[in-house]
Amino acid sequence: SYRKGGYHAVRVGDSFAGGRYIAQRKLGWGQFSTVWLAYDTQSSRYVALKIQKSAPQFAQAALHEIELLSAIAAGDPSSSKFVVRLVDHFKHTGPNGQHLCMVLEFLGDSLLRLIRYNRYKGLELNKVREICKCILIGLDYLHRELGMIHTDLKPENILLFSTIDPAKDPILSGLTPILERPEGNANGGVTISVIEKKLKRRARSAVARISGRRESMGGLPKPKRTVDGIDMRCKVVDFGNACWADKQFIEEIQTRQYRAPEVILRSGFSFSVDMWSFACTAFELATGEMMFTPKGGEGFSEDEDHLALMMELLGKMPRKVSTLSPLPLVRQILQLITHFYIFLVKQIAIGGARSKDYFDRHGDLKRIRRLKYWPLDRILVDKFKFSDTDAREFAEFLCPLLDFAPEKRPTAQQCLQHPWLNISNLTQSELKSESSVEKVGVGMSNLQIKVGK
Ligand code: ADP
Ligand code: MG
Repeated sequence: SYRKGGYHAVRVGDSFAGGRYIAQRKLGWGQFSTVWLAYDTQSSRYVALKIQKSAPQFAQAALHEIELLSAIAAGDPSSSKFVVRLVDHFKHTGPNGQHLCMVLEFLGDSLLRLIRYNRYKGLELNKVREICKCILIGLDYLHRELGMIHTDLKPENILLFSTIDPAKDPILSGLTPILERPEGNANGGVTISVIEKKLKRRARSAVARISGRRESMGGLPKPKRTVDGIDMRCKVVDFGNACWADKQFIEEIQTRQYRAPEVILRSGFSFSVDMWSFACTAFELATGEMMFTPKGGEGFSEDEDHLALMMELLGKMPRKVSTLSPLPLVRQILQLITHFYIFLVKQIAIGGARSKDYFDRHGDLKRIRRLKYWPLDRILVDKFKFSDTDAREFAEFLCPLLDFAPEKRPTAQQCLQHPWLNISNLTQSELKSESSVEKVGVGMSNLQIKVGK
């Protein structure tokens, strides 16, 4: 992918936008871009630099993303809505072409990493609550104030404010930014792995300084396999697929496991698709497992398996969702007149363009017959060992969001009022550790970062 039209190859110390941003290390990548930690010499802050592939279709997509991110930043000047902030954007010309670059506020690990880090056990419910509140405030802002649908909400696209491993966080570990490409031969003299090793060593001692403990020699401190003590705040990122609700271009949206039924059935979509994905995400945070993992099989497709899994968890789909309603006689006659009219009437009828392919007229799946109903609150108890109360309360929070009828799902604003978000069963000791974390957090954000040596 590092060829004409593709990714731009970046080396540590490379500078961008006339020397303003300096690449520090790679943070991640997506289908269309690589993302680098960069140092902003103008504001003396770390930023995330998203460098798009250069071919015209990628540039087009980046322009769209910049348009949405600019609207997000303009509507939230104090940056309090838990959505990533666009700081700047510019073009960068390299050997593979011209790349659009987005400068975003630097955030930490994704919730997916958090789930992995916690060994897929699921997070404590109080942490899930905190994360859910952030996501919902973000969604409420996007939906109600901006009229924007994210369309790809999932743990991977929600980033924590700081990284799980403080040694990897340049701010927490007090790293001195690299301001120029390391000197030496044409390659910069030192390979990136050597630089990374140096960085890690510096980070390790910085962590030891902060935490007041002596780290063992060799390698990074082993991450404690728990996420206790992390201030759980996060932001929604990746607006590469987002759209304005009144300007939709594509029908197939969302990552498979987080896809809403109306998208599978092609019956049109709105803000409530994000609420469906939100519920899937909240479940995954609390259990460590994806809510739906459909697979195609012999005689049925992945879509059909997905619908079957939904019905096993949530019950039968109401007929008005799953089947085209029988049309009145007058309409039937009109239907015969022209194909164009048939098309129009189908648009008016309830049910999606694909409903007839998957469901019979009783609302049963045509090709997957025997479903085992296993409702959400039971799964939480039987499989994930939740207490009865926790399971009931969490299921009461999630189930309305998983209504098959999109218009019945609560909005983000309504969801924020739900009592589950305000239940607090913090024990005294948890309360104590919470307040101490906050103190540490404040202390760290005040850390001065020195430029140069
Ligand atoms: P794509 O649209 O190509 O999927 P994303 O915006 O999802 O790109 O970014 C790809 C990856 O880069 C993310 O999964 C994350 O690891 C990292 N990343 C993106 N934005 C940031 C940010 N603001 N701060 C830190 N890391 C980021
Ligand atoms: Mg992404």
